[in-house]
Amino acid sequence: MGASSDLRSPLKEGTEGPNGFWVDSEGKALKISASDIERYVYCPMSWRMSVGGYSAQGDEVKRGIEEHNRMHQMVVEKIEAQNAFTRNIVIWSWWFAVVLTLAADTAAFYFVQDGLIDSQLATMIGKFLVLLALVWLILAIVLLILPWRQWLGWNEELIPAPNGLADLENNLHPLENTWKLGEGEWFTFGRPEALILFCAIALSLHGVALTFAQNRSLATFLVLVLALIWTMLATTRLQAALSADKRIKEKDKEGGLEELGDIRYSDGGDAILLEDVISGLRGRPDQITRIGDDLIPVELKTGKVPKKPHKSHRFQILAYLHLIESFTGSPPPFGFLRYGSETVYSIEWNQNERYRLFSVIQDMQRVSVEGGAKRDHERPGKCESCSRRQDCPDRLFIPVDQ
Ligand code: SF4
Repeated sequence: MGASSDLRSPLKEGTEGPNGFWVDSEGKALKISASDIERYVYCPMSWRMSVGGYSAQGDEVKRGIEEHNRMHQMVVEKIEAQNAFTRNIVIWSWWFAVVLTLAADTAAFYFVQDGLIDSQLATMIGKFLVLLALVWLILAIVLLILPWRQWLGWNEELIPAPNGLADLENNLHPLENTWKLGEGEWFTFGRPEALILFCAIALSLHGVALTFAQNRSLATFLVLVLALIWTMLATTRLQAALSADKRIKEKDKEGGLEELGDIRYSDGGDAILLEDVISGLRGRPDQITRIGDDLIPVELKTGKVPKKPHKSHRFQILAYLHLIESFTGSPPPFGFLRYGSETVYSIEWNQNERYRLFSVIQDMQRVSVEGGAKRDHERPGKCESCSRRQDCPDRLFIPVDQ
């Protein structure tokens, strides 16, 4: 009886605000999480018990946690494989450029030695290259020292996108590789500096070789050997990229990730918390994927695959859709609700769904303040499969003669 009356009692103090959301004494909207919405829509008593410290129990709950962890691990491994693929392809293309340069050097030395190119002209070109390398080196140092990115308002690590999409991606995607060594205003190392330094080194090596190589036959031979060695090294990077690509495909197949687009983030428990201060809504989607310019929330559900998405699950994904919209200012057209690794439902996001979501949030805030949470259905079968049935004062029992 005591537990039952506790579960009917108010949770917080607050008043209804002018926009329909309930606020505390400081005027801040009462907080409601996306997972609380899922529980409330399933059954208000389930939500109230969860807030009151009654944990969900049963094998299904354990399986759900394991499946979430497994899926998170799979997404992390896929993102790591994608990073490895990109890294190795970049290295391979750079090294392949080195091979081409060495091949050109081999030809140049050969023609100089053969008398087709004048030796003095080759020395002059060599000196010019050394001078050019010096200019590039100075340019790279200047770029390293000056905060030119800030002056230009340019951040090369972000994918250009309107309305804060890039900010969200940058915050949500800690696994992404960056080339940045320093976050301060001064001395920031990035791709342009690396490219210029690389060119300066390459130019200076060529210049020195053309200017000072006395025995050009030997030089031709050495450069040729170097080109072959570098070709072999470049091949190892290509192999590593191909093996990363194979891992990406394996993870896609294993986790049914192909149709989810480019997953940008997966919640491993330490991800950024999305919040909307106006409604008080907050939460972390299981995953966020990118399709075109849109960031799409993905919610994973385990257990029996339903013929159509459960209402409570739909509302949870609506909550994430609203959170992404309020964070980025750009409404995603839909969200994904996944059951297992094979069934994916697309949940539309529009004005009507927004009103429905707000209505549930306001109702939850009202019940939090006024109390009186109670079961909202007459289905014993629902109670039978409820993970909080053990302690529930409102539980319905299936009649014995059925
Ligand atoms: S046992 Fe029934 S009444 Fe109680 S929380 Fe679960 S579904 Fe609601």
